[in-house]
Amino acid sequence: MHVHTKGVSKCSCVSVEEAVDLKMADGYDGFVLTNHCQSFYYPEREHGKYIERVIDEYKRAKDYGMLKGFKVFLGLEVSIHDPFYSDWLLYGATEEFLRDTPCLYKLNQRELYKVCQDGGVLLVQAHAYRSNLTYCDDMRPGYPDSLDGLEINCTPRDFDTREKILATAKEMGKFVVCGTDYHAPDGRVKGGTFLPRTLRTAKEIADYLRKIEKTELFFGKENISVKTFLKN
Ligand SMILES: [Zn+2]
Ligand SMILES: [Zn+2]
Repeated sequence: MHVHTKGVSKCSCVSVEEAVDLKMADGYDGFVLTNHCQSFYYPEREHGKYIERVIDEYKRAKDYGMLKGFKVFLGLEVSIHDPFYSDWLLYGATEEFLRDTPCLYKLNQRELYKVCQDGGVLLVQAHAYRSNLTYCDDMRPGYPDSLDGLEINCTPRDFDTREKILATAKEMGKFVVCGTDYHAPDGRVKGGTFLPRTLRTAKEIADYLRKIEKTELFFGKENISVKTFLKN
């Protein structure tokens, strides 16, 4: 549910082809490509051009995945600074949505949520309790009235916060997904979200997450079901 590749995300050191090959080797059937959309990467006026790179990278990944029998879904990770620094995974975005929306990192959480709702896109906060950040204060959960779900992030620094994420999701009445925030071949962690094989597009993932009563997650060899604490 959370993968970065180096054609777009400067912090990643894997090509889309390597990402597909390595995720397949780890036993996955697919991933959502959630490359970064953030102000550290490009100025607002270049948003349109940048989004074309995001889409091109996705298409390359999807085509290569098709050759290999591996599914790649379109996603995005948007970093905003208002009301505070936070990272957001978008599930259900289409190419048209990405092209038609304004520069997403300029929006505040409530504006971003509105744009996503209008476009049928789910807004899920990534690693809501990440700490020891060099570029801003530690993270915290966003406004519950303007998010759809929370992510348990399997990277070593975030995985320990999973109980806090679960408690917060319960309190807020939101669903939880699990992702690996995949950036590099070294130190790969295993975790994720089980989805039906029949899903073909990110839109279908969003529709599925919107209506289920619990998400099925796995961490390493451990499988758990997390009830979706629905929903306003
Ligand atoms: Zn990154
Ligand atoms: Zn990420």
